[in-house]
Amino acid sequence: MGEQEQQAGWAFETRAIHAGQDPDPTTGAVVTPISLSTTFAQDAVGQHKGYEYARSGNPTRTALETCVASLEGVRHGLAFASGLAAEDAIMRLLRPGQRVVLGNDAYGGTFRLIAKVWEPLGMPWTAADLTDVEALAANWRDDTGLVWLETPTNPLLTCIDIEAVAELAHERGALVVVDNTFATPYLQQPAASGADIVLHSATKYLGGHSDVVGGFLAVDQDDVAERLRFFQNAAGGVPSPFDCYLVLRGVKTLGVRMDRHCENARAVVDLLVGHPAVDRVLYPQLPDHPGHAAAAEQMRDFGGMVSFTLNGGEAVARRVAESTTLFTLAESLGAVESLIEHPGAMTHASAAGSPLEVPADLVRLSVGIEHSSDLVADLAQALELGTQEGN
Ligand SMILES: *Cc1c(COP(=O)(O)O)cnc(C)c1O
Repeated sequence: MGEQEQQAGWAFETRAIHAGQDPDPTTGAVVTPISLSTTFAQDAVGQHKGYEYARSGNPTRTALETCVASLEGVRHGLAFASGLAAEDAIMRLLRPGQRVVLGNDAYGGTFRLIAKVWEPLGMPWTAADLTDVEALAANWRDDTGLVWLETPTNPLLTCIDIEAVAELAHERGALVVVDNTFATPYLQQPAASGADIVLHSATKYLGGHSDVVGGFLAVDQDDVAERLRFFQNAAGGVPSPFDCYLVLRGVKTLGVRMDRHCENARAVVDLLVGHPAVDRVLYPQLPDHPGHAAAAEQMRDFGGMVSFTLNGGEAVARRVAESTTLFTLAESLGAVESLIEHPGAMTHASAAGSPLEVPADLVRLSVGIEHSSDLVADLAQALELGTQEGN
């Protein structure tokens, strides 16, 4: 059995640790070396061992690209210096005049890239409610080249039926990008549901320890992968070997971390649901959550992100976000430590006044893998403090 067939037969947790990570053939090192060389010796002119110059490719990056592609169940992986560098490469697939249809609660930085960088260069865009596939079909515009969806979305955690959107988009000749940052390949593999390009901010769960910025594209089609590979090298938004090593190290524990993130999120949701200070709890496992059916269908579990709105409005939301001691008030998400933030004034401030503006009384949690009882106690006292000061 060839190496690839053997790896395809392995379970997720096994591939996370071994795919692309054979012991080093020259030294036997079990851990993938951080390969710092920028240039590689050639046996004769143009005759090399697969590497020439480190922007085009280096062995540490290859290990990461092979591993995450395997986890997403596709043939090609491309690592980038950040999630947004990866997104920028996707936009280069379009010709001027081709439209992007973007989910109406997309990540603020994605919105900024499309609206403020690429629209002025001639790529129009529309925000759409992608939970409503009938409306998407009815309002379809023939210039659409790309449908860009997140599921679950950030920060409202709406879930989109990937298969239904992909079927429509493919019928109409558009590519489908799924930002899989929140779910990770452990909880959801969008390519199996028809996504052409699976996108990650590796800064979040893939890295998982708040110590590396990175991006990733997973693609099955050879022609799409080849064009993205060209942009990766030609525009040069590549990660350093050390960054690749950190993401690769994070990915080894992705499965066990995600299990604990989901378990802890459930404990937090149990506290929030029915709490007198809390208006709405947004978590895909809740039966009344928009897209619960889609999440139950396409996800293994419901993830580590929880959002909620407060009865006292924006002022209380801000005070609650400032009143935790264990949850750190900070942007970003997906790492071992728990974070709390106010999206309207922090991660999603750049979307103010746009169709992607988020509610001002919303608080977002990235539930970490500390002990759930400590997390629940911290949040309970913050809810109490946040509402007390309002009286
Ligand atoms: C953080 C994030 C991005 C952007 O990734 P960077 O690594 O910060 O460039 C894109 N999509 C989602 C859902 C994110 O959370």
